[in-house]
Amino acid sequence: MTIRTTCAYCGVGCGILATPTGARSVRIEGDPDHPANRGRLCSKGTHLGETVGLDGRLLHPMIGQKRASWDKALDLVARRFRDTIARHGPGSVAFYVSGQLLTEDYYVANKLMKGFIGSANIDTNSRLCMSSAVAGHSRAFGEDVVPASYDDIDAADLIVLVGSNTAWCHPIVYQRIRARCEAGAKLVVIDPRRTETAAEADLHLALRPGSDVALMNGLLAWCRDAGVLDAAFLADHVSAPEDFWARVAEGGDLWSVAQSCDVTVADLRRFYDLFAATPRTVTLFSQGINQSLTGTDQVNAIVNVHLATGRIGKPGAQPFSITGQPNAMGGREVGGLASTLAAHMDFSDENRARVQRFWAAPTMAAKPGLKAVDLFRELGNGRIKALWVMATNPAVSMPDAGAVRDALANCPFVVVSDVMAETDTGGFAHVRLPAAAWGEKDGTVTNSDRTISRQRAIFVPPGEARPDWWIVKEVARRMGWKTAFAYDRPADIWREHVRLSTYQNDGARLFSLAGRGGGGNAEYDAMAPFRWGGQPFADGRFPTPDGRARLVSVFQKPLPAPLRDWPLTLNTGRYRDHWHSMTRTGLAPKLARHRAEPLVEVHPDDAARLGLADGGLARVRTPQGDSLYRVCTSDAQRSGELFVPIHWTDHTSSGGRTGLLPRPLADPISGQPGFKSTPAAIAAVAVR
Ligand code: SF4
Repeated sequence: MTIRTTCAYCGVGCGILATPTGARSVRIEGDPDHPANRGRLCSKGTHLGETVGLDGRLLHPMIGQKRASWDKALDLVARRFRDTIARHGPGSVAFYVSGQLLTEDYYVANKLMKGFIGSANIDTNSRLCMSSAVAGHSRAFGEDVVPASYDDIDAADLIVLVGSNTAWCHPIVYQRIRARCEAGAKLVVIDPRRTETAAEADLHLALRPGSDVALMNGLLAWCRDAGVLDAAFLADHVSAPEDFWARVAEGGDLWSVAQSCDVTVADLRRFYDLFAATPRTVTLFSQGINQSLTGTDQVNAIVNVHLATGRIGKPGAQPFSITGQPNAMGGREVGGLASTLAAHMDFSDENRARVQRFWAAPTMAAKPGLKAVDLFRELGNGRIKALWVMATNPAVSMPDAGAVRDALANCPFVVVSDVMAETDTGGFAHVRLPAAAWGEKDGTVTNSDRTISRQRAIFVPPGEARPDWWIVKEVARRMGWKTAFAYDRPADIWREHVRLSTYQNDGARLFSLAGRGGGGNAEYDAMAPFRWGGQPFADGRFPTPDGRARLVSVFQKPLPAPLRDWPLTLNTGRYRDHWHSMTRTGLAPKLARHRAEPLVEVHPDDAARLGLADGGLARVRTPQGDSLYRVCTSDAQRSGELFVPIHWTDHTSSGGRTGLLPRPLADPISGQPGFKSTPAAIAAVAVR
């Protein structure tokens, strides 16, 4: 029997047809009926069938190095969390969860922490991926709503990609972009690196890292001078600070902007002219924007241009944040971030009271909790005394991962629920809980364009593995909240999530799943992919108190000069065929062929100056740590900058431990770490 499910990897959210061919084998094909991919799959999705074996799986609960029963492990987790809260208060415990969780898992974990433990110290690795987009949307629209859909790509005449190597990181979206370009649309890529995506663009602006606000403010001024602002839309649907336009002008003329961004005046003018002349423009942005110390401002700089030109809420005219993880968006919908409540609500008193009433919660969190970087800093300071990590690997993926490891080592009680027995973070756990993997659990995920799809089980979970929602609700029940967590199946959680999205929602909030939860388990089982929200903002109304969108004044911050001891700038990112810390893609041998080892990409001039040989080894150092890479010289890099991949860990290589290198600094509004610009140095390593 063929099962319709959704890919395990990225935020494109491709539909998959999975046909079991044995006890632990499956044939994978793209689902021709899924709106995200229409039958296509990229290399990662195509090879999912190679990753469903049991090698390395955690099959039983473990207390320390000893196998334990579920009862014993769950009792211990509940008791230690209860005791810690009793002695030190609810702010002394934390959950760190993941965009790999299904929406139902996410919902239950948030409910437990925010409504019952009474703290908002639950953050997610999606903080590292798209929280600047969340903050930017909220500032501009009043709610974290992605207005675009993939269909907008098919209707665009100009596609602008900012800080996104879409060809590698969102390959099926990129195929859609290419198809549109073959039909005549133009493609502009704004990225310091000449990535595979940039190499195929009509125009590539290899701007100076971090100069995106200058570029977009310059574009806004250009559009105004060219007379392409949408005066009627601005008058009827947008508000702005009084001095907004005067401040935009402070960015200077074309020459000054080109100098700030380190691009030629001719290229800049070409981009600005193309944008001004093309009403149907979609601007997609991703980690190059979000993972910046000014990420929220960069998001708003993009959104400002779309609002001012009226290019929003219309087919083929949208700003479009594309998410990294398979369920980053689902997490946003249930309040997966420490700074949000469920159903797109913020922490206003009214919203807190509304959610507390709905949950009949005893101790609702009074304020936003610790965002990821702060959470691990407080873990290191000893203020967090019990931590539960679900489906993620912060000992590898957090910035300054060395300090995160020290913090984990010193935390009195660490729980890790994961599918794999040996992970870098699991090595610090007092209790490890075996989670069901992709292909073994049921639930829903939301992709970048608000399409909610079912993930369905193909296999029975092996050993004693259990779904994450089950593990969390069993701990909650043991902490004393039996009725509120009386879920028997994911459909029970889904229906509650649907009800909360409509509970006392008078339509002011766009996020609503009205009409999606009434049909019982059979409806849930048969659920076809659907996009919530229709065409947001098509009527020019925004979910702000006055119904108007906001232009947000944002200014280019001065870019730091190179430091004497750290003269280079380190950028981090993904490879095409690997995912996160390779716990899944590492199981598929064919995926290792594309990049078998971690490379540091260096401009040839820098390599010559620093005595680095192409193919030789080099150590990259930052104030936080150092790691070994093989050198790849490439003029796709700007001089003065290095690029390294994020995927390798203690379990996969003796080098390439990229998490040790970035600074634990974050955008002050979104809390998203600035992975793209760490001061660094590099030196050749002699091989004896
Ligand atoms: Fe999976 Fe993303 Fe590839 Fe689609 S584009 S098959 S969701 S990894």
